[in-house]
Amino acid sequence: MKTKQFQVFLDELGGLSTVQRTALMMALKSSNSANNVTSLLEVEFAKAPACGHCGAESFSKWGVATGMKRYMCKTCNRTFNALTGTPLAHQYKREKWLEYARAIVDGLTLRKAAARVGVHLETSFRWRHRFLATSKTAKAKRLSGIVEADETFILKSAKGSRRLVGRAPRKRGGKPKKTGTSPDDYDIVLIARDRSGATTDHILYDLTAPTTAEVLKPLIAKDAVLVSDGRKAYAAFAHAENILHIPIITSRGEHVYRGFHIQNVNAYTSRLKAWLQPFRGVASWHLSSYLGWRRSVERLAETFTPERCLQTAYRSRST
Ligand SMILES: [Zn+2]
Repeated sequence: MKTKQFQVFLDELGGLSTVQRTALMMALKSSNSANNVTSLLEVEFAKAPACGHCGAESFSKWGVATGMKRYMCKTCNRTFNALTGTPLAHQYKREKWLEYARAIVDGLTLRKAAARVGVHLETSFRWRHRFLATSKTAKAKRLSGIVEADETFILKSAKGSRRLVGRAPRKRGGKPKKTGTSPDDYDIVLIARDRSGATTDHILYDLTAPTTAEVLKPLIAKDAVLVSDGRKAYAAFAHAENILHIPIITSRGEHVYRGFHIQNVNAYTSRLKAWLQPFRGVASWHLSSYLGWRRSVERLAETFTPERCLQTAYRSRST
């Protein structure tokens, strides 16, 4: 807009009604937020600029589309923008992304996040999945020093099972039973954490020694000290791998043995469970996302900001 035009525009603002004034303020706020998101992601793109289709680094500027800089790849001859090939591609309402990311940081349920941000429940579902795309796999790959391990049981949710295509609801016969009364109602999660705070979790199919060993073998450094609740599977693993194992048998009233304990991992589990509470049961096939989400909350602590959430999602670009 030319300066003169803009002056006229400013002069006309005085004649706006209250409703128009509010609408204008909201439009400015929203466009401001969209611009913030765009610049945030374009800055991320500029750190390692490459074609979102083929990964080539040679491309030219190709104007602007949908408010974002567009490029033309010299290798695959396709146009792309900073979002191409990332979980954030093809998502609309960019002006609401930061607000939605804040809802994730705040640990809101899908429904509450949708209501707060003013999007449809399905959008809420999709965005949460996209925004947390990397957190699912971001976990410690190696634990060393004193490693505390323990398993916890997380109540499965029956809700959402209707979403499963092609699988009939499990027939149990007789009256529908109360959930939470059988081991089948729980997912088993093994959580391991070392004293540096490196944390990982794995969903176990069962509590047998081979399953536990399969999870722990690549994870625990050879010279680590494994501290556990004394379940036989840990002892078997430690014995086979020649790793020092300190069992803490809480049922016998033991909590600390020569300074070794599993209180860090237990405290982590308590925080995880308290945090999961508002979700009222998690469907098994979403559990790993929730576990990853929680790890992000723990790992990033006060640096888990809406901006950080978007940057992290962005970085999982496929090329
Ligand atoms: Zn390309």
